[in-house]
Amino acid sequence: MIVQLVNPYLFSAQENLCISTPNTTWNSRKICINDIKIRLNSHLDHHQQEKCCFCGLLYDRTGRGEIEHIAPKGTGLYPQFSFTSNNLAKACQLCNSSSMKHTYDSIETINAVYELCEFKIVHPYLDDHNYHYAWNYGNREVLISVNNNSDKAKESIRLFELDSVKRTRARAQQRNQERLDNLYNTSIAIKNRIKEVLKFKI
Ligand SMILES: [Zn+2]
Repeated sequence: MIVQLVNPYLFSAQENLCISTPNTTWNSRKICINDIKIRLNSHLDHHQQEKCCFCGLLYDRTGRGEIEHIAPKGTGLYPQFSFTSNNLAKACQLCNSSSMKHTYDSIETINAVYELCEFKIVHPYLDDHNYHYAWNYGNREVLISVNNNSDKAKESIRLFELDSVKRTRARAQQRNQERLDNLYNTSIAIKNRIKEVLKFKI
């Protein structure tokens, strides 16, 4: 139910030039930074299908999607990873709120190379979600549980309240809606195919 992310945003040479200009931070009011954020937003919306990287629910269930730094960029934390592709994903407002992720320090052991850091939670890009989470699908509830006694899964479930009744029911509603949409799209595709065949025969 939580989609594994596989398409991080890749910065162009021109964008890298903008980012590497001295004193440029995520919050710089430069036009080129603003443009990067626009392109990044649309890339992530497309690849995440507008679903939160942490809870898997559509952003609009809890507000809007926000660009999330998986290792937080704040002062004293990890500003060096502000523009690291694998550190950028979109989260729903609830998961990114001050009661959940916000400035939560997600790194257990730091490394200069982002991908070699050890994270406390299931990483949207770097971790195999199927290894960490197990699912039990029902019409009214989609239950989540810890697979392989994973400490990361335990921490993600605690931090994002992934096993709450609200989340559990919201996942079932979303799954039911997706199944209905798929059925509808399949029937439209079949109808169109039949029309084509009939035309061919005439
Ligand atoms: Zn979320």
